[in-house]
Amino acid sequence: MDSSNVLVIGGGIAGLTTAHELSKLGVKVELVEKEPFLGGHAIQFTCKAIESCAKCGACMAEEKLNNVIHNENIKILTGANLNRISKNDRFHYNIQLNPDDKNQSKCTGYSSSADAVIMATGFEPFDPVKKPYGYRVFKNVITNLDLERMLKTNGIALKPSDGMPPSKIAFIQCVGSRDSKLNHLWCSKICCASALRMAHVIKSRKPETSVTFFYIDIQGSGKDFEALYQKAKEDFQMIRAIPGDIYKTEDDWLKINYFDNLSKASIEEVYDMVVLSVAMIPGSKTKELAEILGIIPCDTGFVGSCKNNGIAGSGGVFVAGTAGGPLSIAESITHAVKTAWDVAKYLKTRGR
Ligand SMILES: Cc1cc2nc3c(=O)[nH]c(=O)nc-3n(C[C@H](O)[C@H](O)[C@H](O)COP(=O)(O)OP(=O)(O)OC[C@H]3O[C@@H](n4cnc5c(N)ncnc54)[C@H](O)[C@@H]3O)c2cc1C
Ligand code: SF4
Ligand code: SF4
Repeated sequence: MDSSNVLVIGGGIAGLTTAHELSKLGVKVELVEKEPFLGGHAIQFTCKAIESCAKCGACMAEEKLNNVIHNENIKILTGANLNRISKNDRFHYNIQLNPDDKNQSKCTGYSSSADAVIMATGFEPFDPVKKPYGYRVFKNVITNLDLERMLKTNGIALKPSDGMPPSKIAFIQCVGSRDSKLNHLWCSKICCASALRMAHVIKSRKPETSVTFFYIDIQGSGKDFEALYQKAKEDFQMIRAIPGDIYKTEDDWLKINYFDNLSKASIEEVYDMVVLSVAMIPGSKTKELAEILGIIPCDTGFVGSCKNNGIAGSGGVFVAGTAGGPLSIAESITHAVKTAWDVAKYLKTRGR
């Protein structure tokens, strides 16, 4: 059986940051990631620089990844799932390794123990099949995450139906966020800035592309965001309405219906690609894991600070990054650094 000072669950930007910060203090860390790769969502994002850096934060994922690889204080287990965890004086846990993961040896089980646990399990993107926008029915309805991956791979947007660049794109904001029917009342915080940056990239590479945004209001912060939004008002059509539904026309375009508040009329408009800015929601296993670790999730299902769950940190369990609620990459890093300090203080009280 192995032993470390700290178990970090989740190898996204928050998990990588806490592991690296603790390693700098000489703390031994075990980092467990269920996927075969590290970096979480952020490692899949494209650089959104046009003439200069757009400060999207995506390159920080690579940087954080390089910090943990070949770090003698960090043991990395990818393709690994936490099977069991229990606590007496320390946490004792068992990990199931995926034998198909080529990073692993043939061993499929692994037991270890630690003084503290960091839950850095991140978020999940909302599945928009629950909304009437034809996702997975119409090929050219994609999500913001699909667009991130598409821009990273191809450099430009391409319609999944025929591999050609779209000429008229609509972005629909707040899909699965700020939605009382779903009981998702929160703003996901990053999807306005992220969608605006991607739209600017598309427009800079194919200036003839027409871009329309459907939104409730545009959320973001910082002086860079203000400039981004001002440019969007110049370059894109900004419509303050959330569409009811989407239909396909006979010539394979996508017809969007919406109620125009200015003219007080129902309007139909066609586009050849639609991007849904889906919400950040709690991971499907977050609640179960939190309960095993003795943290009470907030009403939202995230495990960040809220009036109910002030016990994170007591008893050696800590939270880092978007497992606690929607954050940007930079905010996730700041949060993870603070968590690492809290963990270091806790270890000191235990004489570790
Ligand atoms: C479409 C989209 C675009 C975005 N664009 C930007 C942007 O341009 N700029 C920006 O600043 N932010 C952006 N964000 C936000 C950004 O994705 C997050 O801030 C960042 O990914 C948070 O990192 P994290 O480590 O908290 O979570 P995650 O990236 O979700 O990482 C969590 C990791 O934990 C693993 N995990 C989960 N459960 C377990 C378990 N039980 N056992 C082991 N491993 C587990 C997951 O596989 C994952 O690797 C965007 C988000 C979305 C959805
Ligand atoms: S912050 Fe974003 S835009 Fe700037 S260099 Fe990094 S990836 Fe590119
Ligand atoms: S950031 Fe924008 S798109 Fe995302 S939930 Fe908030 S208002 Fe909606």
